[in-house]
Amino acid sequence: MKHILVIAEIFEEMIRPVTWELVAAARRIMDLENSGLIKIITLSDDPLSLADKIAEQTGVDVIGLKIPGCMGYDSDVYKQALSWLIKNMEPSHILTAHTSQGRDFAPGLAIRLKAASISGVNKIKSDHKGLIYSRSVLSNNQNMILRPVPGIPVVLTIMPGIFKFDAHENIKKGQMDIFEAPFDFGSDSSGSICHKRIIKKACENKVLKQADIIVSAGRGIGEKENLEKIFQFAKCFSFSAVGASRPLVDTGWIGYEHQVGITGAVVTPKLYIACGISGSSQHLAGMKDTQFVVSINSNPHAPIFRHSDFCIVEDAVEFIQAFLKCKADREY
Ligand SMILES: Cc1cc2nc3c(=O)[nH]c(=O)nc-3n(C[C@H](O)[C@H](O)[C@H](O)COP(=O)(O)OP(=O)(O)OC[C@H]3O[C@@H](n4cnc5c(N)ncnc54)[C@H](O)[C@@H]3O)c2cc1C
Repeated sequence: MKHILVIAEIFEEMIRPVTWELVAAARRIMDLENSGLIKIITLSDDPLSLADKIAEQTGVDVIGLKIPGCMGYDSDVYKQALSWLIKNMEPSHILTAHTSQGRDFAPGLAIRLKAASISGVNKIKSDHKGLIYSRSVLSNNQNMILRPVPGIPVVLTIMPGIFKFDAHENIKKGQMDIFEAPFDFGSDSSGSICHKRIIKKACENKVLKQADIIVSAGRGIGEKENLEKIFQFAKCFSFSAVGASRPLVDTGWIGYEHQVGITGAVVTPKLYIACGISGSSQHLAGMKDTQFVVSINSNPHAPIFRHSDFCIVEDAVEFIQAFLKCKADREY
């Protein structure tokens, strides 16, 4: 039986929750194929306690790969150690998260394993020819369907926030195997890139988490200057705060403390007003439990409308300007 391998995501010796989602995706593949044996691989200088936790939480067998001197994530170390371990296992699938780690090592690993590589998978289905994978393209407005060449393994990076892990009660703990990689990664000579350290930004998104109403801006607001309108709009409501999609944070228009989504804040306000936000799965993951969602988007087919209680098909900035003018006129 072929292996479906899940690479656990570890950061600062902690298991990232996306690891459980990868197990859910692996189960989906196993169900659709009606075969396969899931195994989870975790890499660390000392993998025993990580492997133990993963085996207990998932009930899946875990391989702990001990890499002396490996302190934290390093792309060259991951690619070299994983390809060494996996080469003899004949897997059908290798799953990693579509995060900064997974996206970094997955293509290189696929090359070393002579495997296919599909990134950003948001759906796994099957048809009469086998498994097909979908990933979003064109600013999340369309999905691309892909079928890997049959007979070779496929490395998949799975979008976070898509596959839900069901923790079964009374689960039987998986077995653990600990291997030691026969390489010395203790020095800086492991490869072309050497990860030194991660510098954390001090950030505070308490305000966002405590707000009753969040007015959130996305790329559809067009330019940085329009953020001023978003702040004015938010001020019209009590207990409100301004949120943003990631591109606005990445381009430096607004601070990270405003980012909503899987890599930002997870918020549950009473009202969420999405202005010029397409509704990517990563953004939805941060606000999907909102009580009432209003979206303003010029595209009537924007995915966010499928998750909204009230949909306004308009230019977001023009709509807000008209709203502010109307409010000012009334106050006058
Ligand atoms: C690992 C990973 C983690 C991520 N984490 C996050 C995260 O935490 N949060 C997050 O937000 N994203 C995250 N992303 C990015 C995410 O995939 C999307 O790229 C992002 O959410 C898109 O932001 P957007 O909706 O503002 O922009 P776009 O997708 O470009 O959408 C812009 C929208 O504005 C609309 N529009 C255009 N003009 C107007 C107008 N004049 N008036 C009204 N509407 C208009 C368009 O129709 C479109 O729907 C992550 C991605 C990855 C790979």
